[in-house]
Amino acid sequence: MAVALSELNATFDRILEPSRFRDYAPNGLQVEGRPEVQRLVSGVTACQALVDAAIDVGADAILVHHGYFWRNEAPVLTGMKRRRIAALLDADISLFGYHLPLDAHPEYGNNARLAARLGISSEEPLHPDDPAAVGNVGSLAAPTPVTEFLDTISRELDRVPLHVGDVNRRVQRIAWCTGGAQGYIEAAVAAGADLYLTGEASEQTVHVAREEGIEFVAAGHHATERYGVQALGDAVAAELGLEHQFIDIDNPV
Ligand SMILES: [Zn+2]
Repeated sequence: MAVALSELNATFDRILEPSRFRDYAPNGLQVEGRPEVQRLVSGVTACQALVDAAIDVGADAILVHHGYFWRNEAPVLTGMKRRRIAALLDADISLFGYHLPLDAHPEYGNNARLAARLGISSEEPLHPDDPAAVGNVGSLAAPTPVTEFLDTISRELDRVPLHVGDVNRRVQRIAWCTGGAQGYIEAAVAAGADLYLTGEASEQTVHVAREEGIEFVAAGHHATERYGVQALGDAVAAELGLEHQFIDIDNPV
């Protein structure tokens, strides 16, 4: 069953409430395609490979976490950006991008879905003084050898994570934020976490982890952010009677 693009847009916005966030990119409909949508494709990043795959499966709209028009990028349509957007416009496919609202949503968000996969119960925000910031603190059901938790991550994310710390330690209180949130490691220390889990690492993250005595895990920016768009796409497709397909474009970072 096809629905109006405007109804799909309103449904995403109703669930994610993007106006609550200060973000680095526009949240919502970024490229407008045909006025009716029946087939929705989701993916982590609106790269050329995802756009091409969506065209191949006859998508009417694409939902991503990393869309276009980031605050610090050149505001011109040239080169790579021209090719991606030209492909969307030629195929009359809409692009929806949701960044922080899709990290933070308590049910469909990247952080919520990652925690559910890894058996972490969410207890409080990582930044209690900033309601617009993302990240959470919670617990594993019991004190767990860090090697066992790393095995769970490898199995669930299909990727061996980077670990900095003590392989003999047990962990229970976990702070996490998906994606490129290595800069939040100090907030995780302040929150009294045994372990901080995010997607990426920087050189300095390793020193903070060693000197503050917190276990640090970088499990992949892409790998930790695969699950929000899938959950949201499934929920919205079920509500509106759409077809939905997640397409994973592999990314080792
Ligand atoms: Zn990200």
